[in-house]
Amino acid sequence: MALMTGEQYIESIRKIDMCVYMFGKKIEDRINDPILRPSLNSVRMTYDLAQMPEYEDLMTAVSPETGRRINRFTHIHRSTDDLVKKVKMQRLCGQKTASCFQRCVGMDAFNAVYSTSYETDQKYGTRYFENFKKFMFYVQDHDLTVDGAMTDPKGDRSLPPHLQADPDMFLRVVERRPDGIVVRGAKAHQTGILNSHEVIVMPTISMGPEDKDYAVSFAVPLDAKGLFMVIGRQSCDTRKMENSEMDVGNAEFGGVEALVVFDDVFVPNDRIFLNGETEFAGVLVERFAGYHRQSYGGCKVGVGDVLIGAAAVAADYNGVQKASHIKDKLIEMTHLNETLYCCGIACSAEGAPTEAGNYLINMLLANVCKQNITRFPYEITRLAEDIAGGLMVTAPSEKDLRDPKIGPYVEKYFKGVEGVSTENRLRILRLIENLVLGTAAVGYRTESMHGAGSPQAQRIMIARQGNLAMKKELAKKLAHIKE
Ligand code: SF4
Ligand code: FE
Repeated sequence: MALMTGEQYIESIRKIDMCVYMFGKKIEDRINDPILRPSLNSVRMTYDLAQMPEYEDLMTAVSPETGRRINRFTHIHRSTDDLVKKVKMQRLCGQKTASCFQRCVGMDAFNAVYSTSYETDQKYGTRYFENFKKFMFYVQDHDLTVDGAMTDPKGDRSLPPHLQADPDMFLRVVERRPDGIVVRGAKAHQTGILNSHEVIVMPTISMGPEDKDYAVSFAVPLDAKGLFMVIGRQSCDTRKMENSEMDVGNAEFGGVEALVVFDDVFVPNDRIFLNGETEFAGVLVERFAGYHRQSYGGCKVGVGDVLIGAAAVAADYNGVQKASHIKDKLIEMTHLNETLYCCGIACSAEGAPTEAGNYLINMLLANVCKQNITRFPYEITRLAEDIAGGLMVTAPSEKDLRDPKIGPYVEKYFKGVEGVSTENRLRILRLIENLVLGTAAVGYRTESMHGAGSPQAQRIMIARQGNLAMKKELAKKLAHIKE
């Protein structure tokens, strides 16, 4: 089957009978819901761009197994060049949507499960790699979007899964049958799950032998019986219901997160990728997290490009574009943003093959990448707010601007430089507001902190990968220390 067009993608999602709740009600029309639709449009962009000849090299790849052209979001990375192109593709998608386009979690889960299932089979003689490859070909051939579900609710963070007061705080196998398993639990903060056709579930932490039932990975379609979602709120989300694209700032695109409940969901044997081999739970977590920490060196940089551009436009409209401190702030924002990109490219260029043959990023550099992302977008945001000015958070609504009586006053008193309409000035401020405080702030600012693991998770990996012993030896040798 050929790559799907954006329109075909939307239709394919419409056909899936998903169970989605928001504001205490089951959503009947997910596709046209004003709060949810922008997030669907963002994923659609990963299909639209793949149709454009100028982006073919970034957005698609040729499957070495089938020789068919597939969307890069369903690809298994076969070289460092593939890893670099992945980051560039994500920067492009961030630039086009200024939000989270969601499809990366499945790509990162794909590459993590590929190598981990292979190694599990080598050790235990299981058939997980074959299961996964069958699923992978199905996804590639139908050009599907896959969610990667890792984060369990976790309950008491000081306790492992099997010691939790409520055993469902981590997703687990509750029944083993000859034809498959039944799972119960939930995954929280699931990016883009309701815009996906399938979900790959993975464990969320390293596990010991007593956590056998929790060391499970599998894939199910989004209409699986017993699976339902509860949409998470975003700051200013109900503004999208006010029929003012101007007040929303970025009316076309957005992201979405949901709590996904697996209320005794059946998984057939050929959809299982890990089932009780506890020592591979941590391996899978580290690899998925590593890939997703690399991903942020692309997507957040693309969104950062839009924010820097918006701040520069606001400066033009305010007539301050020549002020040296404004120029310097834009330089600083660019420096920070490109530093993040350097990290994304570096961990890709330094990647290496796994036993299964696909390429893994350099783990130390990927964790450094994400650690920087927990900081720099906050500084970029601070500088954007500085340049934008207070009007970003005090400007009246579009309705006031359009009102025959009030409108002329809004027009007159919020005007900046001659030749730029008040409307355009307010539009660029609304876009900045959306990125730093509104619905897109979930995907840009706060997700930079917690997405792909909170800062401490990266520091643990940096400590593990930093090779301090080697560095001590370097120092001792030069100091002529003999112990
Ligand atoms: Fe992709 Fe970035 Fe969204 Fe993760 S946060 S799914 S890497 S766009
Ligand atoms: Fe994310």
